[in-house]
Amino acid sequence: MSEFKRPAAVAVGGSGIARSLVIGGDAPVSIQTMWKSPLAGSDLGAVVNGLASLAAIGCDLVRFAVPDEETADALVRLSRLTPMPLVADIHFDYRLALRSLDGDVAKIRINPGNIGGEDRVRAVAEKARDRGAAIRVGVNSGSLPKDLLSMDRAEALVEAAARELAALDKVGFDRVLVSMKASSVPETIRANEAFARRYAVPLHLGVTEAGPLIGGIVKSSLAFGSLLPRGIGSTVRVSLSDSMENEVIAAREILAECGSRRGGVRIVSCPRCGRNGFDVHAFVSRWQRELLSLDRDITVAVMGCVVNGPGEGKHADIGITGAGDSVIIFRKGETVRTVSSGDGVEAVDRAFREELRKL
Ligand code: SF4
Repeated sequence: MSEFKRPAAVAVGGSGIARSLVIGGDAPVSIQTMWKSPLAGSDLGAVVNGLASLAAIGCDLVRFAVPDEETADALVRLSRLTPMPLVADIHFDYRLALRSLDGDVAKIRINPGNIGGEDRVRAVAEKARDRGAAIRVGVNSGSLPKDLLSMDRAEALVEAAARELAALDKVGFDRVLVSMKASSVPETIRANEAFARRYAVPLHLGVTEAGPLIGGIVKSSLAFGSLLPRGIGSTVRVSLSDSMENEVIAAREILAECGSRRGGVRIVSCPRCGRNGFDVHAFVSRWQRELLSLDRDITVAVMGCVVNGPGEGKHADIGITGAGDSVIIFRKGETVRTVSSGDGVEAVDRAFREELRKL
């Protein structure tokens, strides 16, 4: 039997037009990102379209910083326009939580310990309960309570989270999730392990201030790759100093490799070398978003040359490779179409799209 507790299932979203989602229990690990620009004053139609694009590549929830009333009101309006479950991220001001809960938000990220007293915690908890929203308490190693600073930092994170949980427990609220984020991978792993030994509360995994694209993905991969296969972690966010799209793509790749998420499109591509007869990098960057948006369970291979291309990609449902002056499209290693490179990128893309549709 696992030394870690099985996370409870917490239902979020589903009020209004928002899609409902279960985090924890037997539900697949969900993917989150955070909107990267101020919501107040934004064109909400454009935000709705942006959320739809994120949903298409596998994003399950999107969190918005709510620093003021104008943003809380915008979030309320947005929640009536999109099926994407939304999360309101609030620091200190419980009135912003109450105001955001006028909308159909799925979750509030707030720490009871810093909103100023039990009455306020109770007010937020009661409204969240009425509105069907969950609460995530988030503890960061950079903002631990002073009396915990002398402890081992992983233990301190667990203790800080336990205090937040106790505050919600006191007002009878149990639709809760917890995140404990440290900027070091070993600390993140130890804190989440220690928490999962003691509590059946679903964990939101993340490495805070993970860094730019490559460093951030490496850190998140190591942390999630250690935790998820052991059943620790019910929802993830890969934090990057990069686009939301890349956060979602990185998360889905990590989940797929951890066996935490099945199905969907898998792109395998060669790194390209001096043998290449086809610009693998350009093709992948042109096609990645469209391929990942397909609601299919397929493998797509993109290879630079015939030396290794069709052979290495023979398990792929569809593949493309350079071959001298030609570009070959193949299925399960068998050539199905040949296009002359001289016909240009558009002809190659058109042929590939036609073959893709036949799958
Ligand atoms: S498939 Fe061809 S181009 Fe790509 S890395 Fe292998 S040998 Fe090089």
